[in-house]
This record gives sequence, C-alpha cells and structure tokens, in this order.
Amino acid sequence: MKAVKILSIENATRNVMHVKTEKPQGMTYLPGQAVDVAINSPKWKDELRPFTFTSLNSDMYLEFFIKTYPDHKGVTKQIAKLINGDSLLIGDVFGDIRYEGEGIFIAGGAGITPFMAILKDLDKNNSIGANKLIFANNTAEDIIGNDFFTQLLGKNFVNVLSKEENKKYEHGYITKELIESQLQNDKPHFYLCGPPPMMDAVLKQLKELGVEESRIVKEVY
Ligand SMILES: Cc1cc2nc3c(=O)[nH]c(=O)nc-3n(C[C@H](O)[C@H](O)[C@H](O)COP(=O)(O)OP(=O)(O)OC[C@H]3O[C@@H](n4cnc5c(N)ncnc54)[C@H](O)[C@@H]3O)c2cc1C
Repeated sequence: MKAVKILSIENATRNVMHVKTEKPQGMTYLPGQAVDVAINSPKWKDELRPFTFTSLNSDMYLEFFIKTYPDHKGVTKQIAKLINGDSLLIGDVFGDIRYEGEGIFIAGGAGITPFMAILKDLDKNNSIGANKLIFANNTAEDIIGNDFFTQLLGKNFVNVLSKEENKKYEHGYITKELIESQLQNDKPHFYLCGPPPMMDAVLKQLKELGVEESRIVKEVY
C-alpha cells in the first residue's frame, strides 16, 4: 500500500465526496479500473474498500467519487470526515470493465464512476461517437457529473429519477421500453454498473430485448 496525500475533498452531491489525491510514482491504470483504498490511520489502515478511478492515467493526480454510507459505520462514513492533507493508502489496481465498442452505458448512482473514466478517455481521443448514457438516480441533486455529461453527450445523456418528478428528466426506474427507445444500431454494446437490484432488473430487461451476454459488460457496486 502506498500513502498519498489528499489534495482536495469536497461534496459532489449531498452524499458523494469528490476526492483528488497524489498519484503514487510508477502507478498505471486503465479507464474503468478500480483500486483498493484505505484511510491512513491506525484504526482504519487495514479496512480496504474498492473505488474506481475517474481520473485518467495521464493525469498527475488520482480522482474518485465516493458515495458515503453513514449507516454502515464503515470506511465511507470516515472518508466524509477527511480534510485536505489527510492521507489515503492505495493498494492494487484491478477490474475488467473496459470499452469494447459503441453502445449504451447504464449506471445507477455511484455506478457511474467507471463510465466517467471511459467516456473521458473517449472524449480525449475524439471518439465519443454515438455512445449514450442512461443514468438512474433518486433526485436531480444526486446526479454525479451532470454538467460534465450534459456537455459531453447532449441528447445522448438520459436521466431517470425515481424519487423526483422533473419535466427535464424521465421519472421512475429504468424500463425495457426506455432502453428500447435509445437503440439505434443493430448490435450495440451495453455497459452496466450499479447496485444489485438495478443490475438484476436491467439484466432481465436486456435479456427480454434479446441482447446476448457477450454484448454486456458489467460490474455490481
Ligand atoms: C470494483 C468496485 C469499484 C467500486 N467503485 C466505487 C466508486 O468509484 N465509488 C463509490 O462510491 N463506490 C464504489 N464501489 C462501492 C464501494 O466499494 C462501497 O460502497 C464501499 O466499499 C462501502 O464501504 P463502507 O465501509 O462504507 O461500507 P460497507 O463495507 O458496505 O459496510 C461496512 C459495515 O457496515 C455494515 N453494513 C453493510 N450494509 C449495511 C446496511 N445496508 N445497513 C447497515 N449496516 C450495513 C456491515 O456490517 C459492514 O461490515 C465500488 C465497488 C466495487 C466492487
């Protein structure tokens, strides 16, 4: 584990922290990959939790968006209390989510993080193309990176809010019909990341739409 200083930590939404840290020398990672992180204090140093880089390997810093769960009384509750200059321990890089071709990214809440890195990387290479993002959240305030994705994807950024009625966005949960309405080419790839109930529901919908497993890239958060 390598200790890195927190360069900045602030609320991105009411329960998500936006964290930037130093980058350990020699470390490399791919868009979509995650790393084991611990808080560098005697009590918490052995409590490793996985978080996904939202920075790119070419950045001089590491960036994360970390949803905090105060009820769990675990690591993320403590992360919310950290300040600039505190330090984190960074462990092994892992993860298989990667870009395999144009398609539809479907994320729930903090499940957006691997797609933020992948879409940033596509943008950097001028190859954002017709990729789409369907993003499910409770309310508009919970949308991580709303301005970023709106600017990047325009009408290809579709928000679905379960606990807020808002004329700008879809209301409810992701449905088969919503996914179907976004299909445009014959064989798009599907990228899925979110909490278990969302993953189960969307995987069932994709099956009903006749999407083969081989076209689905997924990770449960
Ligand atoms: C590959 C991967 C990448 C990830 N990347 C990100 C990311 O970029 N950003 C992000 O926000 N998240 C990400 N996650 C999810 C993140 O790792 C978890 O949210 C985090 O580990 C939670 O840690 P915690 O210690 O706060 O809570 P937990 O480890 O979930 O819980 C701590 C303790 O609380 C108790 N507990 C568990 N559930 C509950 C409950 N519902 N109510 C009450 N008590 C409970 C248990 O006793 C548990 O031991 C990722 C997950 C994976 C697998």
